Amino acid sequence: MTVLVTGGAGYIGSHMVLKLLEHNEEVVVIDNLSTGNEWAVSPQATFYKADIADPEALDTIFSNHKIDAIIHFAGLIIVSESVEVPLDYYSENTCKSRFLIQHALDAKVENFIFSSSAAVYGAPGLEPVSEAAPFVPESPYGTSKLMTELMLRDVAAVNPGFRYAALRYFNVAGADPQMRAGQSSRLSTHLIKIAAEAATGKRDGLQIFGDDFQTPDGTCVRDYIHVTDLAGAHYCALTYLRNGGASIAANCGYGSGYSVRQVVDAVKAVSGVDFKVTQAPRRAGDAAMIVADSTLARDALGWSPEFEDLETVIRHALQWERNLGNRTGGNPAG
Ligand code: UDP
Repeated sequence: MTVLVTGGAGYIGSHMVLKLLEHNEEVVVIDNLSTGNEWAVSPQATFYKADIADPEALDTIFSNHKIDAIIHFAGLIIVSESVEVPLDYYSENTCKSRFLIQHALDAKVENFIFSSSAAVYGAPGLEPVSEAAPFVPESPYGTSKLMTELMLRDVAAVNPGFRYAALRYFNVAGADPQMRAGQSSRLSTHLIKIAAEAATGKRDGLQIFGDDFQTPDGTCVRDYIHVTDLAGAHYCALTYLRNGGASIAANCGYGSGYSVRQVVDAVKAVSGVDFKVTQAPRRAGDAAMIVADSTLARDALGWSPEFEDLETVIRHALQWERNLGNRTGGNPAG
Protein backbone atom coordinates (compact mmCIF):
# COMPACT_ATOMS: atom_id res chain seq x y z
CA MET A 1 0.00 0.00 0.00
CA THR A 2 1.16 3.47 -0.86
CA VAL A 3 0.34 6.87 0.58
CA LEU A 4 0.00 9.87 -1.73
CA VAL A 5 1.07 13.13 -0.07
CA THR A 6 -0.04 16.30 -1.83
CA GLY A 7 2.11 19.32 -1.01
CA GLY A 8 4.86 16.99 0.20
CA ALA A 9 7.56 19.54 -0.71
CA GLY A 10 6.14 22.09 1.72
CA TYR A 11 6.78 22.71 5.40
CA ILE A 12 4.31 20.29 7.00
CA GLY A 13 4.16 17.89 4.04
CA SER A 14 7.92 17.30 4.07
CA HIS A 15 7.75 16.31 7.75
CA MET A 16 4.85 13.98 6.93
CA VAL A 17 6.92 12.24 4.27
CA LEU A 18 9.69 11.63 6.82
CA LYS A 19 7.18 10.25 9.33
CA LEU A 20 5.67 7.86 6.76
CA LEU A 21 9.11 6.65 5.66
CA GLU A 22 10.05 6.00 9.29
CA HIS A 23 7.04 3.69 9.37
CA ASN A 24 8.23 1.91 6.21
CA GLU A 25 5.37 3.20 4.09
CA GLU A 26 5.68 3.62 0.33
CA VAL A 27 5.32 7.33 -0.34
CA VAL A 28 4.39 9.26 -3.48
CA VAL A 29 4.52 13.06 -3.45
CA ILE A 30 2.74 15.45 -5.80
CA ASP A 31 3.70 19.11 -5.51
CA ASN A 32 3.73 21.92 -8.07
CA LEU A 33 6.62 23.62 -6.21
CA SER A 34 4.75 26.94 -6.14
CA THR A 35 5.94 27.38 -2.56
CA GLY A 36 7.65 24.07 -1.76
CA ASN A 37 11.20 22.97 -2.52
CA GLU A 38 12.15 19.80 -4.34
CA TRP A 39 15.15 19.28 -2.04
CA ALA A 40 12.72 19.06 0.87
CA VAL A 41 11.26 15.82 -0.53
CA SER A 42 13.12 12.80 0.76
CA PRO A 43 14.77 10.87 -2.12
CA GLN A 44 13.11 7.74 -0.71
CA ALA A 45 9.74 9.08 -1.88
CA THR A 46 8.62 9.06 -5.52
CA PHE A 47 8.19 12.67 -6.57
CA TYR A 48 5.84 14.04 -9.25
CA LYS A 49 6.19 17.74 -10.00
CA ALA A 50 2.61 18.50 -10.95
CA ASP A 51 -0.49 20.33 -9.84
CA ILE A 52 -3.17 18.40 -7.96
CA ALA A 53 -5.66 19.59 -10.57
CA ASP A 54 -3.65 18.10 -13.44
CA PRO A 55 -5.78 15.14 -14.59
CA GLU A 56 -2.97 13.46 -16.53
CA ALA A 57 -0.62 13.59 -13.55
CA LEU A 58 -3.27 12.11 -11.26
CA ASP A 59 -4.12 9.39 -13.78
CA THR A 60 -0.43 8.51 -14.05
CA ILE A 61 -0.01 8.39 -10.28
CA PHE A 62 -3.11 6.27 -9.70
CA SER A 63 -2.19 3.84 -12.45
CA ASN A 64 1.50 3.56 -11.43
CA HIS A 65 0.90 3.14 -7.70
CA LYS A 66 -1.56 1.29 -5.53
CA ILE A 67 -2.64 4.27 -3.42
CA ASP A 68 -4.73 3.37 -0.36
CA ALA A 69 -4.57 6.76 1.33
CA ILE A 70 -4.19 10.42 0.41
CA ILE A 71 -2.85 13.02 2.82
CA HIS A 72 -3.77 16.36 1.32
CA PHE A 73 -1.63 19.35 2.30
CA ALA A 74 -1.36 21.24 -0.99
CA GLY A 75 -2.91 24.69 -0.78
CA LEU A 76 -2.45 28.35 0.02
CA ILE A 77 -1.99 29.29 3.66
CA ILE A 78 -1.58 33.02 4.20
CA VAL A 79 -4.66 34.34 5.97
CA SER A 80 -4.08 38.02 5.15
CA GLU A 81 -3.44 37.21 1.48
CA SER A 82 -6.73 35.30 1.37
CA VAL A 83 -8.54 38.52 2.25
CA GLU A 84 -6.89 40.29 -0.70
CA VAL A 85 -7.41 37.55 -3.29
CA PRO A 86 -10.28 35.37 -2.04
CA LEU A 87 -10.95 33.70 -5.37
CA ASP A 88 -7.38 32.40 -5.50
CA TYR A 89 -8.01 30.71 -2.17
CA TYR A 90 -11.32 29.23 -3.29
CA SER A 91 -9.78 27.94 -6.47
CA GLU A 92 -6.54 26.56 -4.95
CA ASN A 93 -7.97 25.25 -1.68
CA THR A 94 -11.59 24.42 -2.45
CA CYS A 95 -11.98 23.75 -6.20
CA LYS A 96 -8.74 21.80 -6.47
CA SER A 97 -9.65 19.77 -3.40
CA ARG A 98 -12.95 18.95 -5.06
CA PHE A 99 -11.04 17.74 -8.10
CA LEU A 100 -8.73 15.59 -5.98
CA ILE A 101 -11.64 14.10 -4.02
CA GLN A 102 -13.31 13.13 -7.30
CA HIS A 103 -10.13 11.37 -8.42
CA ALA A 104 -9.84 9.66 -5.04
CA LEU A 105 -13.38 8.29 -5.45
CA ASP A 106 -12.75 7.20 -9.04
CA ALA A 107 -9.56 5.44 -7.98
CA LYS A 108 -11.37 3.83 -5.02
CA VAL A 109 -9.03 5.35 -2.47
CA GLU A 110 -10.55 4.56 0.91
CA ASN A 111 -8.71 6.87 3.29
CA PHE A 112 -8.37 10.64 2.97
CA ILE A 113 -6.65 12.93 5.47
CA PHE A 114 -7.14 16.64 5.05
CA SER A 115 -5.13 19.59 6.34
CA SER A 116 -7.78 21.74 7.93
CA SER A 117 -7.34 24.59 10.33
CA ALA A 118 -8.50 26.14 13.58
CA ALA A 119 -9.47 29.01 11.26
CA VAL A 120 -12.78 27.18 10.71
CA TYR A 121 -13.75 28.35 14.23
CA GLY A 122 -12.89 32.03 13.69
CA ALA A 123 -12.47 33.71 17.08
CA PRO A 124 -13.59 30.98 19.48
CA GLY A 125 -13.49 32.90 22.79
CA LEU A 126 -11.35 32.53 25.86
CA GLU A 127 -11.64 28.78 26.52
CA PRO A 128 -10.01 25.86 24.68
CA VAL A 129 -12.15 25.14 21.62
CA SER A 130 -13.59 21.68 20.97
CA GLU A 131 -14.65 20.22 17.63
CA ALA A 132 -18.28 20.86 18.58
CA ALA A 133 -17.78 24.64 18.47
CA PRO A 134 -19.66 26.49 15.73
CA PHE A 135 -18.02 27.17 12.37
CA VAL A 136 -17.47 30.93 12.10
CA PRO A 137 -14.48 31.37 9.79
CA GLU A 138 -13.35 34.98 9.59
CA SER A 139 -11.25 34.81 6.43
CA PRO A 140 -11.52 33.32 2.95
CA TYR A 141 -8.69 31.01 4.03
CA GLY A 142 -10.82 29.61 6.88
CA THR A 143 -13.87 29.39 4.65
CA SER A 144 -11.93 27.63 1.91
CA LYS A 145 -10.83 24.98 4.43
CA LEU A 146 -14.31 24.65 5.88
CA MET A 147 -15.85 24.18 2.43
CA THR A 148 -13.47 21.29 1.78
CA GLU A 149 -14.35 19.71 5.11
CA LEU A 150 -18.04 19.96 4.22
CA MET A 151 -17.43 18.40 0.80
CA LEU A 152 -15.65 15.50 2.46
CA ARG A 153 -18.51 15.07 4.94
CA ASP A 154 -21.11 14.98 2.18
CA VAL A 155 -19.09 12.66 -0.05
CA ALA A 156 -18.38 10.24 2.81
CA ALA A 157 -22.09 10.17 3.69
CA VAL A 158 -22.97 8.53 0.38
CA ASN A 159 -19.76 6.54 -0.26
CA PRO A 160 -19.39 3.96 2.49
CA GLY A 161 -15.97 2.91 1.18
CA PHE A 162 -14.59 6.42 1.60
CA ARG A 163 -13.66 7.77 5.02
CA TYR A 164 -11.75 10.89 5.98
CA ALA A 165 -10.02 12.64 8.86
CA ALA A 166 -10.01 16.44 8.83
CA LEU A 167 -7.24 17.62 11.11
CA ARG A 168 -7.64 21.18 12.33
CA TYR A 169 -4.21 22.64 12.93
CA PHE A 170 -3.49 25.25 15.56
CA ASN A 171 -0.13 27.12 15.41
CA VAL A 172 2.45 24.85 13.79
CA ALA A 173 6.11 25.56 14.53
CA GLY A 174 9.51 23.95 15.03
CA ALA A 175 11.49 21.66 12.76
CA ASP A 176 12.50 18.04 12.36
CA PRO A 177 14.65 17.18 15.43
CA GLN A 178 17.25 15.66 13.07
CA MET A 179 17.19 18.88 10.98
CA ARG A 180 16.17 17.12 7.77
CA ALA A 181 13.25 19.52 7.25
CA GLY A 182 11.92 22.81 8.57
CA GLN A 183 10.18 26.05 7.70
CA SER A 184 12.14 27.50 4.78
CA SER A 185 9.97 30.24 3.35
CA ARG A 186 11.05 33.82 4.01
CA LEU A 187 7.46 34.89 3.39
CA SER A 188 6.18 33.36 6.62
CA THR A 189 4.23 35.68 8.90
CA HIS A 190 4.25 33.26 11.83
CA LEU A 191 5.48 34.39 15.21
CA ILE A 192 8.05 31.68 16.05
CA LYS A 193 9.54 31.80 12.55
CA ILE A 194 9.82 35.58 12.70
CA ALA A 195 11.29 35.51 16.19
CA ALA A 196 13.82 32.88 15.03
CA GLU A 197 14.77 35.15 12.12
CA ALA A 198 15.21 38.06 14.54
CA ALA A 199 17.32 35.95 16.90
CA THR A 200 19.60 34.87 14.03
CA GLY A 201 20.05 38.43 12.75
CA LYS A 202 17.99 37.99 9.59
CA ARG A 203 15.69 40.82 10.58
CA ASP A 204 16.12 43.89 12.75
CA GLY A 205 13.65 42.83 15.36
CA LEU A 206 10.05 41.92 15.88
CA GLN A 207 6.82 43.80 16.38
CA ILE A 208 4.20 42.67 18.89
CA PHE A 209 0.81 43.27 17.33
CA GLY A 210 -1.50 44.54 20.07
CA ASP A 211 -1.19 44.50 23.86
CA ASP A 212 -4.76 45.36 24.80
CA PHE A 213 -6.42 41.98 24.31
CA GLN A 214 -8.44 40.36 27.09
CA THR A 215 -5.62 38.03 28.06
CA PRO A 216 -3.35 37.89 31.14
CA ASP A 217 -0.61 40.08 29.63
CA GLY A 218 -2.70 41.76 26.93
CA THR A 219 -1.06 39.93 24.00
CA CYS A 220 -2.70 37.12 22.01
CA VAL A 221 -2.58 33.55 23.24
CA ARG A 222 -1.98 30.64 20.86
CA ASP A 223 -1.42 26.89 21.02
CA TYR A 224 1.96 26.10 19.39
CA ILE A 225 2.33 22.51 18.16
CA HIS A 226 5.62 20.95 17.03
CA VAL A 227 5.49 20.07 13.33
CA THR A 228 6.80 16.54 13.99
CA ASP A 229 3.99 15.94 16.49
CA LEU A 230 1.54 17.21 13.90
CA ALA A 231 2.90 14.70 11.38
CA GLY A 232 2.52 12.09 14.13
CA ALA A 233 -1.16 13.00 14.51
CA HIS A 234 -1.62 12.34 10.78
CA TYR A 235 0.03 8.96 11.12
CA CYS A 236 -2.35 8.13 13.99
CA ALA A 237 -5.28 9.24 11.81
CA LEU A 238 -4.03 7.04 8.97
CA THR A 239 -3.84 4.01 11.26
CA TYR A 240 -7.26 4.85 12.68
CA LEU A 241 -8.87 5.03 9.23
CA ARG A 242 -7.10 1.90 7.97
CA ASN A 243 -8.47 0.07 11.02
CA GLY A 244 -11.97 1.04 10.00
CA GLY A 245 -12.46 4.15 12.14
CA ALA A 246 -15.37 6.41 11.23
CA SER A 247 -14.78 9.73 9.51
CA ILE A 248 -13.63 12.29 12.03
CA ALA A 249 -12.61 15.92 12.46
CA ALA A 250 -10.04 16.48 15.20
CA ASN A 251 -8.13 19.41 16.63
CA CYS A 252 -4.34 19.30 16.51
CA GLY A 253 -2.87 21.42 19.27
CA TYR A 254 -1.54 20.67 22.73
CA GLY A 255 -4.28 22.35 24.73
CA SER A 256 -1.99 24.88 26.36
CA GLY A 257 -1.64 28.47 25.33
CA TYR A 258 1.25 30.93 25.37
CA SER A 259 1.04 34.67 24.87
CA VAL A 260 3.03 36.50 22.21
CA ARG A 261 5.13 38.04 24.97
CA GLN A 262 5.82 34.64 26.54
CA VAL A 263 6.91 33.26 23.15
CA VAL A 264 9.17 36.24 22.48
CA ASP A 265 10.76 35.95 25.94
CA ALA A 266 11.26 32.20 25.42
CA VAL A 267 12.96 32.75 22.05
CA LYS A 268 15.27 35.31 23.65
CA ALA A 269 16.07 32.95 26.52
CA VAL A 270 16.72 29.89 24.32
CA SER A 271 18.80 31.83 21.76
CA GLY A 272 20.57 34.07 24.25
CA VAL A 273 19.93 36.99 21.87
CA ASP A 274 18.15 40.09 23.12
CA PHE A 275 16.71 41.20 19.77
CA LYS A 276 14.72 44.40 19.44
CA VAL A 277 11.00 44.18 20.18
CA THR A 278 8.58 47.02 19.49
CA GLN A 279 4.94 47.40 20.33
CA ALA A 280 2.67 47.81 17.30
CA PRO A 281 -1.09 48.18 16.80
CA ARG A 282 -3.30 45.09 16.54
CA ARG A 283 -3.05 43.11 13.30
CA ALA A 284 -6.39 42.95 11.51
CA GLY A 285 -8.38 39.84 12.32
CA ASP A 286 -6.33 38.52 15.26
CA ALA A 287 -8.43 36.77 17.93
CA ALA A 288 -7.42 37.10 21.58
CA MET A 289 -7.08 33.40 22.25
CA ILE A 290 -7.08 30.26 20.09
CA VAL A 291 -6.25 27.13 22.08
CA ALA A 292 -7.27 23.57 21.22
CA ASP A 293 -9.23 21.14 23.28
CA SER A 294 -7.22 18.17 21.98
CA THR A 295 -9.03 15.42 23.89
CA LEU A 296 -10.43 13.85 20.73
CA ALA A 297 -7.07 13.51 18.93
CA ARG A 298 -5.54 11.95 22.04
CA ASP A 299 -8.45 9.62 22.87
CA ALA A 300 -9.95 8.65 19.50
CA LEU A 301 -6.77 8.75 17.38
CA GLY A 302 -4.43 7.57 20.14
CA TRP A 303 -2.13 10.54 19.56
CA SER A 304 0.56 11.10 22.17
CA PRO A 305 2.86 13.98 21.32
CA GLU A 306 6.62 13.75 21.91
CA PHE A 307 7.62 17.41 21.85
CA GLU A 308 4.91 19.06 23.94
CA ASP A 309 7.14 21.77 25.30
CA LEU A 310 7.49 25.35 24.04
CA GLU A 311 11.23 25.44 24.67
CA THR A 312 11.79 22.35 22.51
CA VAL A 313 9.64 23.76 19.69
CA ILE A 314 11.68 26.98 19.81
CA ARG A 315 15.05 25.20 20.07
CA HIS A 316 14.34 23.21 16.90
CA ALA A 317 13.02 26.29 15.06
CA LEU A 318 16.19 28.22 15.99
CA GLN A 319 18.52 25.40 14.99
CA TRP A 320 16.80 25.09 11.61
CA GLU A 321 16.95 28.85 11.09
CA ARG A 322 20.70 28.85 11.76
CA ASN A 323 21.24 25.93 9.38
CA LEU A 324 19.21 27.68 6.71
CA GLY A 325 21.65 30.61 6.75
CA ASN A 326 20.76 33.42 4.41
CA ARG A 327 19.58 31.17 1.62
CA THR A 328 15.99 31.88 0.70
CA GLY A 329 14.39 28.56 0.18
CA GLY A 330 17.85 27.03 -0.19
CA ASN A 331 18.82 23.59 0.97
CA PRO A 332 20.55 23.87 4.34
CA ALA A 333 22.14 20.49 3.64
CA GLY A 334 24.05 22.19 0.79
N1 UDP B 1 2.48 38.13 15.98
C1 UDP B 1 3.19 39.26 16.40
N2 UDP B 1 4.26 39.66 15.64
C2 UDP B 1 4.65 39.01 14.52
C3 UDP B 1 3.93 37.86 14.10
C4 UDP B 1 2.85 37.45 14.85
O1 UDP B 1 2.85 39.89 17.39
O2 UDP B 1 5.62 39.44 13.87
C5 UDP B 1 1.33 37.68 16.76
C6 UDP B 1 0.04 37.70 15.99
O3 UDP B 1 -0.54 38.99 16.03
C7 UDP B 1 -0.78 36.64 16.73
C8 UDP B 1 0.28 35.64 17.19
O4 UDP B 1 1.53 36.34 17.11
O5 UDP B 1 -1.36 37.21 17.87
C9 UDP B 1 0.34 34.41 16.32
O6 UDP B 1 0.41 34.83 14.96
P1 UDP B 1 0.82 33.87 13.79
O7 UDP B 1 0.85 34.68 12.53
O8 UDP B 1 2.06 33.13 14.16
O9 UDP B 1 -0.34 32.80 13.74
P2 UDP B 1 -1.95 32.96 13.66
O10 UDP B 1 -2.43 32.63 15.03
O11 UDP B 1 -2.26 34.34 13.21
O12 UDP B 1 -2.33 31.92 12.66
